[in-house]
Amino acid sequence: MSATVIDGKAAAAAVISRVRERVESLKARGVVPGLAVILAGEDPASQVYVRNKIRKCAELGIDSRRIDLPGDVTMEEMLSVIRKLNEDPAVHGILVQFPPPPQLSQEKIIDAISPSKDVDCFSSCNVGRILEGRTDGFLPCTPAGVLELLKFAGIDPAGKHAVIVGRSNIVGKPLAALLMQKNKGANATVTVVHSGTPDIARYTRDADILIAAVGRPRFITGGMIKPGAAVIDVGINRVPGENGKSVLAGDVDFGSAADVAGAITPVPGGVGPMTIAMLMNNAVLAAEQAVKNA
Ligand code: NAP
Repeated sequence: MSATVIDGKAAAAAVISRVRERVESLKARGVVPGLAVILAGEDPASQVYVRNKIRKCAELGIDSRRIDLPGDVTMEEMLSVIRKLNEDPAVHGILVQFPPPPQLSQEKIIDAISPSKDVDCFSSCNVGRILEGRTDGFLPCTPAGVLELLKFAGIDPAGKHAVIVGRSNIVGKPLAALLMQKNKGANATVTVVHSGTPDIARYTRDADILIAAVGRPRFITGGMIKPGAAVIDVGINRVPGENGKSVLAGDVDFGSAADVAGAITPVPGGVGPMTIAMLMNNAVLAAEQAVKNA
C-alpha cells in the first residue's frame, strides 16, 4: 500500500471541537440549540443512524428531541408533526430520517420543513443557494464533509480535476455544486459520471480527486485510478463477511486502490464520521441564525 490513509475520525473531531465552542457561546447567551429528529417506522439501519445523531447531540449539549412515528403513519400526520416543529421556537433544526416508509413522499416532507430549520440542506431553496455559490448558510452534510476531509488532508481542489461517480440529490449533485464554486477549498474542474456514462474508467483515470458515491460495493478498483490521486469513498454497503456476519464495504476496493492512490479514505472511519459532524455544525448554525434574526 502506498497511499496515505485520511483519518475521518480525526477530521470529524476537529469539526466537533469547533462546534462545541459555538454551543458554549450560545449557552452563555441563554440559548440551547434544539434539534428534532423524526423517524417513521423501524428500519434497523435508520434506527442506528438516529441513535448516533441523538448521542452526538447529547455529547455536545445540543437539546435533541426524538419523535418516533409508526411505520404506517400517513402523509397528513407526518406533515402535521413537521408544521408544529416549524412553529416551535425551541426547535432550531428539523431532520426526517430517510428513506421514509413507501406511503410517504420524500419530496413533500422536504418541502414541508422550513428552510431555516432544514439542517440536512435538502430543500430546493437551500440547494439552490449552494448552486448560486452562497455557501454561508446550511451546507449539505456529506458533500460538505468531503470538502472538509480534503482540507484536513491538505488537498486543495483548486485547479484539479475532480471526478464524482454518482449523481444523487444527497451526494453527487450537491458535491459537484460545492466543488465547482469559485471559493476557497473548491474551484475544481468537475466531471460527474453515472449509470448513463459509457466507459466510466476513461474519466476516473483522469481524476486528481476521485469521489465514489455509487452505492455499489468495491466498484472502483485500482486500475480505474490515476497514480497519486486522492480517493474519497462515500459508499457504505453491507456485504457478507466471514462467519456469516455482514461487514461494511465502501464503493472503492480499498486493497487495490490504496496501491495506486496518493491518499484514500477508509470505510468505516472516513466520510461517515464527517457527515454527522457537519450535521451538528448545521444544527448550531440554525440556532445562531435564529438568534440573529430574532
Ligand atoms: P444513490 O442515490 O443510489 O445514487 C447512486 C448513484 O450512482 C446514482 O447516480 C447512480 O446512477 C450511480 N450508479 C449506480 N450504479 C452505477 C453504475 N453501475 N455505474 C455508474 N453509476 C452508477 O446513492 P447515494 O445516496 O448517492 O449514496 C451512494 C453511496 O454513499 C451509498 O453507498 C450510500 O450508502 C453512501 N452514503 C454514505 C453517506 C455517509 O455518510 N458516508 C451518506 C450518504 C450516502 P443513476 O443516477 O443513473 O441511477
